[in-house]
Amino acid sequence: MLLLLAAGAAAIATSRPPAPAAGDAPASAFSATRAMGSVAALADRPRPIGSPASDRARDGLAARLRGMGLQTSTTPSVGASSRDDAQAVGVVDNVVGTRRGTAPTGAVVLVAHYDSVPAGPGAADDAAAVASILETVRALSTGPALRNDLVVLLTDGEEAGLLGAQAFARADPLRGRPAVVLNFEARGAGGPSLLFQTSPGNARLIDAYRAVPHPAGDSSLAAAYALLPNDTDFTPFLEAGRPGLNSAFVERASRYHTPGDTLANLDPGSVQQQGTSMLALTRVLGSTDLAPFDPAVSGAPPSGDATYAAVFGHLWVYSGAAVLPMALLAAIAVVAALVTLWRRELITPGRFAGAFASWPVAVLVAALLGEGAWRVLAWTRSGYANSLGFVHRPGLIQVGVLLLGLVALLLWGLLLRGRLGAWAMGVAATAWLAVLGLVTAVLVPGASFLFALPALGAGLGIAVAAFVPAVWRPLPLAIGGLGTVVLLVPFSVALFDAAGLAGSALPAACVVLGLAPLAALVAGRRLPVRVPVSVLVAAVALGALGVVTDRPDAAYPDRADLAYLHDTDSGTARWVSRDPVPAPWTARYVTGAPTVPGPDLPWPSDTPIRTGPAPVVDLPAPAATTRRLPDGALELRLGSRRGADTLGVRADTPGVTSAEVTYLGHDPIMVPVHGRLDLTLFAVPRGGARVVLRTDGPVPVGQDPAPLRLVVRDQTTGLSGISGWTPRPPELERSPTRNGETVMITRSVTG
Ligand SMILES: [Zn+2]
Repeated sequence: MLLLLAAGAAAIATSRPPAPAAGDAPASAFSATRAMGSVAALADRPRPIGSPASDRARDGLAARLRGMGLQTSTTPSVGASSRDDAQAVGVVDNVVGTRRGTAPTGAVVLVAHYDSVPAGPGAADDAAAVASILETVRALSTGPALRNDLVVLLTDGEEAGLLGAQAFARADPLRGRPAVVLNFEARGAGGPSLLFQTSPGNARLIDAYRAVPHPAGDSSLAAAYALLPNDTDFTPFLEAGRPGLNSAFVERASRYHTPGDTLANLDPGSVQQQGTSMLALTRVLGSTDLAPFDPAVSGAPPSGDATYAAVFGHLWVYSGAAVLPMALLAAIAVVAALVTLWRRELITPGRFAGAFASWPVAVLVAALLGEGAWRVLAWTRSGYANSLGFVHRPGLIQVGVLLLGLVALLLWGLLLRGRLGAWAMGVAATAWLAVLGLVTAVLVPGASFLFALPALGAGLGIAVAAFVPAVWRPLPLAIGGLGTVVLLVPFSVALFDAAGLAGSALPAACVVLGLAPLAALVAGRRLPVRVPVSVLVAAVALGALGVVTDRPDAAYPDRADLAYLHDTDSGTARWVSRDPVPAPWTARYVTGAPTVPGPDLPWPSDTPIRTGPAPVVDLPAPAATTRRLPDGALELRLGSRRGADTLGVRADTPGVTSAEVTYLGHDPIMVPVHGRLDLTLFAVPRGGARVVLRTDGPVPVGQDPAPLRLVVRDQTTGLSGISGWTPRPPELERSPTRNGETVMITRSVTG
């Protein structure tokens, strides 16, 4: 037991970020202390697309790159994105710096975004990565010149919908030349920078990643990431077929996209780990032949996929070709364990079948306990309900949730061990891991190791334990169980960072997944009822203590979402909040029950919102004229009469298949519409924008096309001009919702 505890603790401890290097670290090394100076300069205020602060950031960054001898440009261009039921267009000012290599085979492209959300200064997201790039370029300048070209791409408009990266990838200045893209992001303000996404055929890239001094992340994260509604600047490059790696740190996720994403809340260790990875990768890729990395461009044979995981501070890699054999080997080990146990009369087929059938119930109970814990937390405190699960100090609560998973496991033992025996239960849980290893080997190969390796170890451990005298049995069982503890325990902890407390079902279920294969360790021992009861009491006590000690204050505020909507069609104005349980401050404004927006409530969202009556402020409706073009398309000319630079147009019904957007002085850009039209136009110039909407199918000659009903909006950030609005009390902060804190003026047009 001690061996397993020590291994689990070591696995977690060795995954922590390194200490930040001091400001007087050697010039050739990466120093987070030096990088933090750049974060301070950049992240003193929010820098959303089109804002004066964003212009200042662009000019400052271009000057820094020029100062380090990079050929630098900041040409404005138009970017567009289309995903789910929302589209975005905007003028972006990417900062692109290039340093020619001595004998280039291609380019290493370092990517980070310098814009931030309107809600906060984005110190972690993504000023930290921008600063790491500056520090990396500086460190590289002290050594011999790189063989390959170095391209620094600091994008604009990432938060508005990957607009800068999309514009760069579309223009493709590296056309026809091999390139490797290294994107750095943050979805939190601490923890190690995890390698969480790679381009397909990643074996060569993973080989390059071995040079990183503090590797973090594993190949299962890509599968988990695909389930999350997140996207990064890496996506447009991936869609263009470019090879590359994507890294992000995800701890302290309660700061993500909030006013609290500040320099003070950013972990310098995360910057150190991010920067040392960036520098090591750039040195390796900068001095190697890039042609084999970019088969789409060079025609080189593509490399396979690798399974990788950073455990105990070391990167363990095996080829994708070994994934299925490894999963089969695990299955064989489990079969060997089964046969051995049966021959030694430690299990019977009936007992094994009972354990195998009841194991999913134990996992389900653990998941339900985790889910229930989150529901209770959200019910006890409005701040939690409005946090989407990302609370500032979740530590004690997280331990409580993991203990609830243990309660489910102990209940399984308490109820069924007398009938089935610990051996049958342990080997059945191991058999399930082997099954999961095989299923994932086929469906998500990168995640198979998480189950196959623990199954292999535990299966062998059980088989050996069945042979040795009873007194020695714990040793092979514990050694065989190391894989489950070392891989699945840190995995369940990482799930908290990915999904927040709202996803507590997952880590709780993982406890059963990871610990049930060790059941035979307690064979022959009694399990009194007081054990699960004590663990349950401890879980509840820790959760309660966690809630009590996590009171909101100015340093750790709760979230409060509020915005203002003026519908000029009906002449009514409303306060709007997305918060499920409004705090007292918010409840003064929004008094109604949650309502799904529709024609009478023209708020651009499909999720329920609360509203309340607001004073009508004398602000003009956006300008919008419509005209049918000869081919049946609908032309809109849009502009704001109050100087708002963000406009939107939303259709009440599906049917629009594309929008062609023209900003004065730029070429038109075509935006495909997959579901409903909900187009946001960012950084619109004074002259406004022209939008041409096309609908499905040709219009028969002599017939008028069916009219489209559209809601046009303009929006500005900040509610201080609205009478009746008072600043939040210090224990509340602005929510990171997309349209939070906006003043939105809408009107409908039909054409
Ligand atoms: Zn970001």
